[in-house]
Amino acid sequence: MTRITAERGGKLRCKGWRQEALLRMLENVLENSENQKELIVYASLGKAARNWPSYRAIVDTLKHLEEDETLVIQSGKPIGIFKTHRQAPLVVMANCNLVGRWATSENFYELQDKGLIIWGGLTAAAWQYIGSQGVIQGTYEIFQSIARLHFGGDLRGRFILTAGLGGMGGAQPLAGRLANAAILCVEVAEERIDKRIAAGYLQRKTDSLDEALSWIAEAVSNRKSLSVGLLGNAADIYPELLRRGVQPDIVTDQTSAHDLLYGYIPSGFSPASAAAARRLNPAGLQAAAGVSIANEVRAMLEFKKRGAVVFDNGNNIRSQAAQYGVLDAFEIDIFTEAFLRPLFARAIGPFRWIALSGDPQDIRIIDDFILQEFSDNEIVSNWIILANSYVPFEGLPARIGWFGHKDRSKLALAVNSMVREGTLAGPVAFSRDHLDAAAMAHPNIMTERMKDGSDTIADWPLLNAMLNCSSMADLVAIHSGGGGYAGYMTSAGVTIVADGTRESDLRLRTALDNDTGLGVLRYADAGYEESLEEVRDKSIARVDISLHESIHAD
Ligand code: NAD
Repeated sequence: MTRITAERGGKLRCKGWRQEALLRMLENVLENSENQKELIVYASLGKAARNWPSYRAIVDTLKHLEEDETLVIQSGKPIGIFKTHRQAPLVVMANCNLVGRWATSENFYELQDKGLIIWGGLTAAAWQYIGSQGVIQGTYEIFQSIARLHFGGDLRGRFILTAGLGGMGGAQPLAGRLANAAILCVEVAEERIDKRIAAGYLQRKTDSLDEALSWIAEAVSNRKSLSVGLLGNAADIYPELLRRGVQPDIVTDQTSAHDLLYGYIPSGFSPASAAAARRLNPAGLQAAAGVSIANEVRAMLEFKKRGAVVFDNGNNIRSQAAQYGVLDAFEIDIFTEAFLRPLFARAIGPFRWIALSGDPQDIRIIDDFILQEFSDNEIVSNWIILANSYVPFEGLPARIGWFGHKDRSKLALAVNSMVREGTLAGPVAFSRDHLDAAAMAHPNIMTERMKDGSDTIADWPLLNAMLNCSSMADLVAIHSGGGGYAGYMTSAGVTIVADGTRESDLRLRTALDNDTGLGVLRYADAGYEESLEEVRDKSIARVDISLHESIHAD
């Protein structure tokens, strides 16, 4: 079968640019996937479509879809085309949502094996994945925040230990280097190491721990940045480092620890022997993965006791370890609460844009515009300068920038004008990660220890999706966790296309402002000061409940 890549250039295959944009986004997800043959994009099992017939049917439908129709997709399978209107989303989807009590990994695997459901990751089935570049600024901002909080603002001469060089974890070595640290990434699959080197995200590789440590030590003593991929198993390497008395400054892990069956490779297994055990002895494989994770997390806790900054980078590793007997696993901080919550409280999050023409120059023109128009936005300007020089494109040229309320629409409207005036080679799609202010309920990642205790309430992502449909977005998705994430999360995704028309001015402004507006209100409702400030400063329409209470009292 020919490898799928995203179409480039100005020729339309669909009846309009909005449909063509969504088709290219879907193709782009597969172009950037970890295992295209299985439609697996990232996060061990996150798929772009239910199966190949579903994929082909989606492609064919998008080619024929009218501007006043809506395609409905259930867990990666196209279900029907409905007559709606030109302001309605072109695509709505619900992926992997199980009813509360039944949302377990066992039920998920059973339904998956029957071909009834898929885990869509966050951005895979929602056709928003853009490769490791999609999380790289987030990972970089975590490192920067640690630098400010613990190391006088600078990671020069500091050693980061992590694991996992998959679709998302592959961002870690480059993010670590951009933060000026020496970063060691343990990865059990050699082809993943090679892929990150080929993509320009990783510098060196070795299968010798001694060699890796000597490179890291040299970089640390010269205060030089360096990224090293070490072929090995994190469950072996972390305890071995402790045994040798090697102490990193920062420790985390981004293996697919959330999934014991398809994700984390236990100690003593290769990816190939794990694949065989998955068929022959799935229960044994899961138990072995649980025990290995527990050993790795015990080592992480010991690094913490010895003075390292240790955090969970969003892969449920603490929950898994806790189930396998590590009762103090939650002594390890979650990255969102520890480092990013003040940003999310202002709805500043991982916004992204994709040049549908395939022309990298479009992204460079937008970079220049941002540096001019948002020069007082330190987070974004700093990032765009770095990204422009060091972050290689993967698939369709794209960029990520942590913009907040009103700034997202300001950028998108300016870009839409550039499309209209022909400054850019083609339309641009705007999207964001599901890990965004209004869009995710995940009590062990995004919403852990919320100020008001609202961690487990999934109303917010559902409201977010409904509001985005009402706000004329082009694609709206509701996801819940699959595989090891079953029962752990609900999230919403949105995509809006800047095709240069006046109609898309309206779509972009309405959908983007309402998306972040709800994000600010979600945190304001939970009592975060930054959000309350944002509500006042940016005049977000919040219902003043105290006013109603006093009227009632009268
Ligand atoms: P992936 O499945 O593409 O890659 C996981 C990698 O871990 C693979 O390369 C695998 O070989 C390696 N691995 C597995 N077991 C290992 C072990 N014992 N030792 C060393 N390497 C091992 O997954 P991904 O897309 O990179 O995502 C990784 C995790 O991060 C997932 O749990 C995902 O849900 C989570 N995630 C977090 C964020 C965030 O915002 N922080 C974003 C996206 C994904």
